[in-house]
Amino acid sequence: MALIVQKFGGTSVGDADRIRAVAEHVARTKAAGNDVVVVVSAMGKFTDDLIRLADDVSPTRPPRELDMLLTAGERISMALVSMALGACGVDSASFTGSQAGIITDTDHTRAKIIEIRPDRLREALDSGLVPVVAGFQGVSTKRDITTLGRGGSDVTAVALAAALKADVCEIYTDVTGVFSADPRVVLKARRLPKVSFDEMMEIAATGGRVLMLRSVEFARRHSVPLHVRSSFTWEPGTWIVEEDPTMEEAVVSAVTDDTSEAKITVGGVPDRPGIAARLFRELANRGINVDMIVQNTSAKGMTDISFTVGKTDLEAATKACELVKEEIGATEVTSDDNIGRVSIIGAGMKSNPGVTALMFETLSNNGINIEMISTSSIRISCVMRAEKVADAVRHLHTAFGLDAA
Ligand code: ASP
Ligand code: MG
Repeated sequence: MALIVQKFGGTSVGDADRIRAVAEHVARTKAAGNDVVVVVSAMGKFTDDLIRLADDVSPTRPPRELDMLLTAGERISMALVSMALGACGVDSASFTGSQAGIITDTDHTRAKIIEIRPDRLREALDSGLVPVVAGFQGVSTKRDITTLGRGGSDVTAVALAAALKADVCEIYTDVTGVFSADPRVVLKARRLPKVSFDEMMEIAATGGRVLMLRSVEFARRHSVPLHVRSSFTWEPGTWIVEEDPTMEEAVVSAVTDDTSEAKITVGGVPDRPGIAARLFRELANRGINVDMIVQNTSAKGMTDISFTVGKTDLEAATKACELVKEEIGATEVTSDDNIGRVSIIGAGMKSNPGVTALMFETLSNNGINIEMISTSSIRISCVMRAEKVADAVRHLHTAFGLDAA
């Protein structure tokens, strides 16, 4: 008998029919002899609707009240799923994040889990119930209700799976798994039966939309096997597991794309110690996450520094640069939000030379100019014009032999 955490995303509980289908699946899993803990997201686009409502009543969004508001979405789902389970003959009880013992820090709207006290869930399991937990939420050390950031139900599911030592955490969504590229961009994209935690981290960080990055980090840290699968077809999906040292890894497993970032260039800065430190300290102080950074070779003691930030941070980041411009002796600050990033990811890259060359050749053969490059041991990313992204993804997918037959 296994303990399985099953998380259902917004589309999976989007209406009454979907909720009944979810309940039937949980009932089947339970009837097969497993213990099940269910974690749910808010129905459909309900969280977005609530945010819109908040904007309609107030020009500001006080974080404490916003969290209180948004957690209502998952509460609706948990109660309905629990009722639907009852109708299938499965005894269950719903729990808010707070009732489930999810303790977070006090950073409203993006709180981090600091402790889980799953006693109530254990008791529920021991008495034969299926606990249905509201995802995306917890209670802070100051006893206020918090949320874990958009998409945070994945984190709830993985954290509970770790705390309860579940055998697997199943993430049900509207796609059949993790693909070798976005199937909307590449018709010949394939579902990956298995990827390593490291690969999945890179995929999630570079535009793969299936799983929230933090949930993958959490799963890796606690060795929680993840299984991403569809709640529409119920077929087996993609397993995200520890790397298997006995297997030969694919050189490249996936090609991802991301057009959510913009580029800022700080021009004409003196090439001496302390300048970059001052600039990036100013950005860090404002909580701005910087992604890729490129510094040009200096000519006559002057250089340019370019970096990318999320488009939503572009305004704040440009302001921060303008503020330190004089102090660091820069001549200009320019921004460009018409860029995109294409990445190739594969654990086998570590031991196979020529991957970078093939990527660059493929881009150049198709007339695509590379503006910035960054790498990790299992990823190569190139920044290019946004309108070239789809083309680049398709050509790289073919060049690295990923096209489905
Ligand atoms: N309902 C929340 C959101 O839309 C959390 C989640 O879906 O995981 O971001
Ligand atoms: Mg969601």
